[in-house]
Amino acid sequence: MARRRRELESADIPLPRDTRVITVVNQKGGVGKTTTAVNLAASFAQAGANVLLIDLDPQGNASTALGIDHHADIVSSYDVMIDGAEIAGTVQASPEDERLSCLPSTIHLAGADLELATRDRREFVLRDALQDYLMEREDLHYVFIDCPPSLGLLTINAFTAATEVMIPIQSEYYALEGVTQLLDTIHRIQQHLNPQLDLSTVVLTMYDGRTILSKQVADEVRKHFPEQALETVIPRSVRVSEAPGFGQTVVTYDPNSPGALSYREAAKEIAQRGVAR
Ligand code: ATP
Ligand code: MG
Repeated sequence: MARRRRELESADIPLPRDTRVITVVNQKGGVGKTTTAVNLAASFAQAGANVLLIDLDPQGNASTALGIDHHADIVSSYDVMIDGAEIAGTVQASPEDERLSCLPSTIHLAGADLELATRDRREFVLRDALQDYLMEREDLHYVFIDCPPSLGLLTINAFTAATEVMIPIQSEYYALEGVTQLLDTIHRIQQHLNPQLDLSTVVLTMYDGRTILSKQVADEVRKHFPEQALETVIPRSVRVSEAPGFGQTVVTYDPNSPGALSYREAAKEIAQRGVAR
């Protein structure tokens, strides 16, 4: 552990030249999307990057984990998606880190799919709003978009607004269930809505090194995604699941726990691969 910590402290975590907009997606529920999005966002901020997290899930778990109040009355990603609110007036600073901000979500977002359904350019609402915001925020290095567990219009907006897709995969039975449908959807988005979209990263979550099952899932995932699967895997760890209860990421809550170190190592790998590409 001490060695991993020292290596991280002396690590080269290069900043990207252009803003990387990474949408974290898997229509399977509970695989670690939110946990991955908030902990990577916090890891990058800690490493000196300016980071925005967009919470696009009505559950608002990412907002909670970043210590942001998201009761029904605040302006939120709902107002951006439905009422034309600007992102600039809607983001909040996260108490996690001065370089980290969050566009929170509220429960109102649960109706957004239906409200968007009949509009023109309904697939591009987030992209248009984010492009406006990025004109003012050229200093932003990373944007993470936390998606709900579905492939509805909110997730399609996330795909359209992003430059990259990251898929978290839980080290469990049926880990790859639904992945074919997800890849088909990404392919269709690339063909029709966002040709630049790059499936850049696959990350294994809740990995238990003691079980054969976890190793089998890891092998299978690496076979499917030889280019995209990170070397770093995220271990199953109680500290990771406790942190949101304190309105914190594990990177802040217990920086030297195995989960925190793994997320920081994953951030390093993502930064280095990004520069290499
Ligand atoms: P949803 O589809 O509902 O949005 P999700 O894909 O965002 O879910 P998370 O909310 O990140 O998944 O994680 C699901 C549950 O697993 C949470 O209770 C979380 O605390 C727990 N969890 C995530 N990663 C880990 C980990 N590495 N170790 C232990 N628990 C974890
Ligand atoms: Mg989630």
